[in-house]
Amino acid sequence: IPNTEAKETAKATDGDKSDEEEKEDRAAQSLLNKLIRNSLVNNTNQVEVLQRDPNSPLYSVKTFEELRLKPQLLQGVYGMGFNRPSKIQETALPMMLAEPPQNLIAQSQSGTGKTAAFVLAMLSHVNPVNKWPQCLCISPTYELALQTGKVVEQMGRFYPEVKLAYAIRGNRIEGGSKIQEQIVIGTPGTMSDWLTKKKVVDPKKIQVFVLDEADVMIAMQGHQDQSIRIQRKLPKDCQMLLFSATFEDSVWQFAERIVPDPNIIRLKREEETLDTIKQYYVLCKNKQDKFDALCNIYGAITIAQAMIFCHTRRTAAWLAGRMAAEGHQVALLSGELAVEQRAAIIERFREGKEKVLITTNVCARGIDVEQVSVVINFDLPLDKDGNPDNETYLHRIGRTGRFGKRGLAINMVDSEESMAVLRAIEEHFSKKIVKLDTEDLDEIE
Ligand code: ADP
Repeated sequence: IPNTEAKETAKATDGDKSDEEEKEDRAAQSLLNKLIRNSLVNNTNQVEVLQRDPNSPLYSVKTFEELRLKPQLLQGVYGMGFNRPSKIQETALPMMLAEPPQNLIAQSQSGTGKTAAFVLAMLSHVNPVNKWPQCLCISPTYELALQTGKVVEQMGRFYPEVKLAYAIRGNRIEGGSKIQEQIVIGTPGTMSDWLTKKKVVDPKKIQVFVLDEADVMIAMQGHQDQSIRIQRKLPKDCQMLLFSATFEDSVWQFAERIVPDPNIIRLKREEETLDTIKQYYVLCKNKQDKFDALCNIYGAITIAQAMIFCHTRRTAAWLAGRMAAEGHQVALLSGELAVEQRAAIIERFREGKEKVLITTNVCARGIDVEQVSVVINFDLPLDKDGNPDNETYLHRIGRTGRFGKRGLAINMVDSEESMAVLRAIEEHFSKKIVKLDTEDLDEIE
């Protein structure tokens, strides 16, 4: 469809992506992360803890037994294959399970065990004998709320007396009746509706309030106000818990309005480095020439798995077609795919079913490339103003700390402009990017 292609190209080159689209991306990215993540991320950093009462002892646990969980919940935790608490859970769980309850703001990158932690806290706090909502959890989108619900169901598998309701659009509920489920998970709009207009949940009986994905939440229109409105209806002694993957100032300000007297836990994300990466560039004349160079590279060295980044969907699709015609097993990750489809493609690539993953930038953010030995920038990364995007460059090819295997990065340069971008990136990281002659590839083996 030429029309969308033109739009896409314009978008990519002019960078006139609307704010709305950026925000949707954030929720989609977060969902994608959840769909493709099936284990904890590695992180060797220390957890930073800021206690509300610095004089009280700081407890941290190395085992789930130490938490004195209900046997059904311990069984649920082990049933999920968890052997011991994650780094963030070591300190967050004792705080969340303390008596009297303590408020908590916790920040750590996605995949560090936040969701599992607050789900366990919710399940621990409810009294299944009481047939009314006792824990509320709000998420930025319908899909994210469902994902959290799945964790509640998994972890609560041996504790069937505890029931879960979803306050999400489409879940029609009669005003006047009361909800009996002890845990309610939903989006701010519908949740607010259930509390105030429909009055199917009594806010005064809520003991635990969780706000998940605070950074995504505040990026969405109206969610911030609605969240605050919900929080204001809850009792003073209700436990407030807030989680975020990132911590910009705006998230901070929001967090402080949602969570009074908080304990704060932070786990910095592992630094990415280019130290273990060999970086090269190839001088080309145009797109076709880049493709030929790519074929030469494939002809000369053995590449187990490669990720190739293109600037636009259009180039990505073109390249995927050309490489497939050359007999490569190619997967194409593209913006118009639904998040679930993207997750399936990434999963297949991870399993090695495809050897080449061609993608545009938007889609690739958040993908772990640890197993990928070769990354090719078919186009160099630019930010939305068209300037060299160092951060994205690092994220595409960088490896984290001591877990990183060695890698190879190849940049395709086809104009004075892209050469200038390359030089700027080289300078920024003070790491030489070596010229590669694709007619003579002995040096990279
Ligand atoms: P986050 O909410 O920070 O993104 P999750 O709670 O979703 O992190 O956990 C990320 C992944 O790690 C999930 O697949 C989850 O099942 C798993 N996980 C969480 N806690 C543990 C643990 N203590 N041991 C092993 N795996 C865990």
